[in-house]
Amino acid sequence: MAEIHRRKSVTVKIGSVRVGWEVPVVVQSMTNTDTADIASTIDQVEALALAGSEIVRVTVNNEAAAAAVPHIVEGLDKRGIRVPIVGDFHYNGHLLLTKFPACAETLAKYRINPGNVSIGRKDDDNFRTMVEVAVQHQKPVRIGVNWGSLDQALLTRMMDQNSKSATPLPAREVMMEAMVVSALDNAAAAERYGLRRDQIILSAKVSGVRDLIDVYTNLAARCDHALHLGLTEAGMGSKGVVASAAGLAPLLLSGIGDTIRVSLTPAPGGARTEEVHVAQQILQSLGIRSFMPQVTSCPGCGRTTSTYFQELAEQIQNYLRNSMPEWRKQYPGVEELKLAVMGCVVNGPGESKHANLGISLPGTFEEPKAPVYVDGKLYTTLRGDNIVAEFKQILDNYVVTHYGQGSMQAELLQAR
Ligand code: SF4
Repeated sequence: MAEIHRRKSVTVKIGSVRVGWEVPVVVQSMTNTDTADIASTIDQVEALALAGSEIVRVTVNNEAAAAAVPHIVEGLDKRGIRVPIVGDFHYNGHLLLTKFPACAETLAKYRINPGNVSIGRKDDDNFRTMVEVAVQHQKPVRIGVNWGSLDQALLTRMMDQNSKSATPLPAREVMMEAMVVSALDNAAAAERYGLRRDQIILSAKVSGVRDLIDVYTNLAARCDHALHLGLTEAGMGSKGVVASAAGLAPLLLSGIGDTIRVSLTPAPGGARTEEVHVAQQILQSLGIRSFMPQVTSCPGCGRTTSTYFQELAEQIQNYLRNSMPEWRKQYPGVEELKLAVMGCVVNGPGESKHANLGISLPGTFEEPKAPVYVDGKLYTTLRGDNIVAEFKQILDNYVVTHYGQGSMQAELLQAR
């Protein structure tokens, strides 16, 4: 696998988490609860953190939300959840951060949207106030430009200049350039107002995949700030997942991006944690980080007419996901484990041999038995009605013996 050369960015400390080229790409997420609803927000932040979100952002949109922030952080602390909480501010951040110093102090970072913090003003006093609060409390900020709320005064000025040019650029290019200029100009202003470079992260989010790649490639080439990547308003379901992966992958493979978020619209009643799993899966599929054991499963075909194989694949996937919060603590390195769950013997044994653990179920008309391979060798053949439970038992044993205290894997990790 070709090595990825990360772009050298300044490392920023957000609470206990570092973001920058020297450390692995960080996964973050955002709640969709009413921040003023302390209990619901604590529950959701906990769920996101347990799913593996390393930073969680909450909206701070009014006084009730700002007043709730310290209680949320305190409640999480009581549950042993120490994930950095970032406050997302729009329009009134300067008022909330000054009126609620406990909120300003407890947040690990402030997200400032330069497109709407100074609306209706000719100066940037509101932006300056937020930066000065950050300096006072020694908090980093993310200057988060979003094309849905791009600074209209800046865009109008650049469009006017472009229209007077002898060789005007297409409007899309001016818009992309305005995103980059907004991020860079505001970063420079934040430094003038007292923030250090290692206290500033930039983002320039758009909702089109090609736009995202263009704007971040441009931004990355013009500064050494740490960059937060994300396709904004990615959408629902497979559209959101595919668009996010398509947008983030080329950038990450080019070494661009120090932290990512996948902005999925959850289905009604759907789990917010899905955005964390998708972000992790993007990084793991690219070979950038490992978060949980990977299951290779075939798509199934006419040789597997029952749903048994699909159910097994799903049960194993869920079992891994549910086990990981505990396994992560007890069995370091377990996220590197590879499993194969295959529908029949055509590719089953071959694929199983490439995995640490593999099982091939019997296809239609095949003998009702499921050979299990461990580290490339036939280990046992399962039969009967208890195949799933027995396979999970083999999986548990493998995890304990290979990643538990005293295992070779544990010793290797300690030696690193
Ligand atoms: S492994 Fe078997 S069941 Fe799965 S896709 Fe291939 S032929 Fe079909």
